[in-house]
Parts: sequence; structure tokens; C-alpha cells
Amino acid sequence: MSIPFIDLKTQYKQIEEAVKKGIDGVLEHGAYIMGPEIGELESKLADYTGSEFAVGCGSGTDALLMALMAQGVGPGDAVFTTPFTFIATAEVVALLGATPVFVDIDPVTYNMDPEDLRRKIDDLQDSRPELKARGVIVVDIFGQAADYDAIEPLTQNYGLFLIVDAAQSFGATYKGRSVCSIGDMACTSFFPAKPLGCYGDGGMVFCHSEDARTLLTSIRVHGMGTHKYDNDRIGINGRLDSIQAAVLLAKFAIFPDEIAKRQEVADRYAALLGPIDGLTPPAVAEGCQSVWAQYCVLARDADHRTQCMEQLQEAGVPSTIYYPKPLHLQKAFDYLGYAMGDFPVTEDVAGRIFALPMHPYLTAEDQEIVVAPLKG
Ligand SMILES: *Cc1c(COP(=O)(O)O)cnc(C)c1O
Repeated sequence: MSIPFIDLKTQYKQIEEAVKKGIDGVLEHGAYIMGPEIGELESKLADYTGSEFAVGCGSGTDALLMALMAQGVGPGDAVFTTPFTFIATAEVVALLGATPVFVDIDPVTYNMDPEDLRRKIDDLQDSRPELKARGVIVVDIFGQAADYDAIEPLTQNYGLFLIVDAAQSFGATYKGRSVCSIGDMACTSFFPAKPLGCYGDGGMVFCHSEDARTLLTSIRVHGMGTHKYDNDRIGINGRLDSIQAAVLLAKFAIFPDEIAKRQEVADRYAALLGPIDGLTPPAVAEGCQSVWAQYCVLARDADHRTQCMEQLQEAGVPSTIYYPKPLHLQKAFDYLGYAMGDFPVTEDVAGRIFALPMHPYLTAEDQEIVVAPLKG
């Protein structure tokens, strides 16, 4: 028998009928682009997250790109984010000709370290006088909210925009607030492996003013004005497909239940891993509810991680590393001039972390099988 890393098949069995009905609906009405499913999904997810507005789009990457475009980000602008994230977070900054400025992470939550953010903002004038500090993209890594009580006042005091990269944290809360209701805009992804995923690419931007919504919907369709062939600004083709929205509507019906199941799986992992020497299970900060996009464990050191992952592999248990190479050491960002040693916490975590199978349908028995090879 083999244990899947993410079990989308078992999930499909729960929603098969609703998914087929939803897709059939699109095939029948024929509005493949911007069909009624888009508006329905946007209003449901806006409600769920306590956001004023939601704008569906083509991917999590498009969501981030559209949010930055709405903020007017361009050459000469500095946007702060962490190097311990998926490439898309910083890639969109570079795509617009702006400059990603990296900030180290907290050693416990792996999210942005607010103290280092303050330092990096204060340092910018000296280190890169040609750049203007414009905003911050905060990532809720692995499904857990960042330290917003510390970050929000910082961005406000320095006059910076705050964009939440909630690609991994849709459904997570921070002190009772949905993470997608935080910041000027929050962006999520419906890539199949995310907590709420579709059967292709998809994403959404959450925002809190009519103006922001108008801007985002224009950017989503080539900078469209009031008339279809008026172009008021440069935009993209960033629409969400009606079929993917139909899939998401079906999946969203069971999403709250799936979050509860993910929490049970995480609790069982914590109990099983707690007594094992040399392994550090993930910690959730007070007042936060994670959606457990990933379940990542810290090994003692790089050799110990290799040993753990080899033992898992021998037992037929999949494991993987998020993220083995921090963004400041990626070839694509060579031009930023960073070097090994610049982000000690990120580098330490990237050198020791590994992820275990995580999905709502993981049974207690399978979790015993996953953890057994780590007990050596
Ligand atoms: C997945 C992910 C993205 C990009 O989402 P896509 O839908 O794959 O474009 C951005 N940021 C983070 C943190 C992610 O995990």
C-alpha cells in the first residue's frame, strides 16, 4: 500500500456529483469565460473571509501581480518580502520592474520577522538610496498567519501598502480575523494542491473598497474601461475560468469540514512526533488557526533530514522539502546581489525542514505508518 502526499482522489469521491453537476451547468449555458459561477464564487468567498470584495483570477501568481499593479508598483520601487516562500511571491515584483527586498523569518513560525522588517525598511535609505519603499508582501507560510499585530502598525507608520500572500492560508484566521480580510489586498491560489484547490489554475484577490475592486476587475481584463474595447490602463488576461469556479463552488461546500479534519490530522501528528528526539513539529502562534497547507518538521541538521527522508522513502512514505533553496540564493535573483549568510534563519530552516503527507483524509492508522520510520 502507498500513502499519497495529498489525496485529491478521496476528496473527489465526496463531491463527485456536485462537481459534475457544476461543470455540466457551464457546458449547458456556454459562458465559459466570466460565467455566472464567477460572481457567485466571489460573493461566497468574500462573505466567508469577511472581505468587502473578491475578484477571481487565473492563478495565485496573477492575484499577486494584479494586486501589485493596482498599487502602481514599478521600476524604482522596493517591495519587502521573505526569501522563504514560493518563487511567485517575489517573481511578480521583479516582473513589474520593481525590486524585491528580502526580510528574514521567525525561527518558530517561518513567517516574516517584524523586527527584521523594521531594520530592512530603515536600512533602505543607506543601502539602496535609489529605491523607494512602497510596500510589503507578507506570506502566511504553510497555512499559518504571520504576526500581523506587529506588521500592520509598521506598514501604517511607514506609509507602505500591505499585501497578504494567502496562497497557502485561505481559511486561516489571525486572532479571529480571516487572513484574507487583512491588509490592503490579500491574494490566494486555487492550485489543486492548496487547501482550497480547483482542477487547474485559479486564484482570487480580496479587497476592501469599491475603488480597489474596480481597478482589479479592469486589470483582470486588459485594463478594460466601461466599454469592452476601451482600455484605460495596461492590464493582463487574468480571468478565472467558469469551469474552475464551478469546481470551487462544489469544493467550498465541504471546505470548513476539511479544515476541521486537517486540524485533527495536525493534532495527531503533534502527539506522535512530540516524543521523538531531534524532531521539531510545527508550532502555531497564539491566536492563530492554521489551515495546514503543509505539515513541515525540522530535523536536527541537514544530515539528520537526509536520514529521515531516506527512512521514509524505504517505508514507501512520500516526503518533500519546502523550500530547499531560499529565494535570495536562486539564480534568477543573482542580480539582486545577495549571498549565503544574508538570511541566517531562512538558511538554517531551509537546510533542515521537510514535509510529511498532509490532507484532510489522512487516517490515524496511516499517520502511525508515516511516523514509524522516524522513530529510529
Ligand atoms: C502557490 C503559491 C503561489 C502561486 O500560486 P499559483 O496559483 O501557483 O500561481 C504564490 N505564493 C505562495 C506562497 C504559494 O504557495
